[in-house]
Amino acid sequence: MRETAISLIRAGHCVHPQRMTIRDGSWRSVIYPALSVLIIHPVEGPMLFDTGYDPAFFAATQPFPERFYRWLTPVTLAAGSEVASQLTRFGLAPDDIRHLILSHFHADHIAGAHAFPGAAIHCSRAGLDAACSGGRIASVRRGVLRALLPPDIAARARFFEEAPRVALPDALQPFDMGADILGDGSLLAVELPGHCPGHWGLVTNDQAHGEHFLVADAAWSTDAIRRDMPPPAITSNFLGSARRVEATLRQLNALWRRNPAIRLTPAHCPERAAEAGQ
Ligand SMILES: [Zn+2]
Repeated sequence: MRETAISLIRAGHCVHPQRMTIRDGSWRSVIYPALSVLIIHPVEGPMLFDTGYDPAFFAATQPFPERFYRWLTPVTLAAGSEVASQLTRFGLAPDDIRHLILSHFHADHIAGAHAFPGAAIHCSRAGLDAACSGGRIASVRRGVLRALLPPDIAARARFFEEAPRVALPDALQPFDMGADILGDGSLLAVELPGHCPGHWGLVTNDQAHGEHFLVADAAWSTDAIRRDMPPPAITSNFLGSARRVEATLRQLNALWRRNPAIRLTPAHCPERAAEAGQ
């Protein structure tokens, strides 16, 4: 598998009662950082997996009914900490990003997408269809802010479901098949069902860590994977399917037990956010 270089970028955070995300958690409010992942590909150059929060989130949640989203999950984003601005730390500008890979269409994963108008958008067709269906109230209830979807996304989208299917490396068992999104085996999208319609992770061969599985919102933290501790069913069923969330988490736990050295990165993991170092 061709090597890539991975950097985790923390782009804002929200606050929830811990009990919403961990079945045996407390009711105290805890911080959920939002991670974007910069991937440097040896041929295609820099690309991003998810975007984290962005000032566009605040504009999109100004009107009603979208404002309910902001009330339910208060968001903090320090000035200049959206991913488009943080690229300068890596000597990059937004125009350098040629590929944007979106795990799913919740606002905390796509809020910064508008900053990369020249990038191809790799995403799930099922996820995009679900994000575009129903009215504004139904969308907000599902964690989708329609205003954050790039208006030309249909023209720029390259769907995971249509990429060649390939076998994953043995190190990823029990996950066995991925979608080869660039056609060179370097970035393999893997469906992780349950969190919402069309929810996918990404496997790459990170030059620092070997196989690196970006699992998006399939787990709230690496600790939840190690403990096989799903969110309460009421939270999972609100956005997707608790039964499928729990089955996917069991698979991630089995992967970790079989291969404890594997690098697993959930999008809101506090351990990983601490490594991002901002
Ligand atoms: Zn999500």
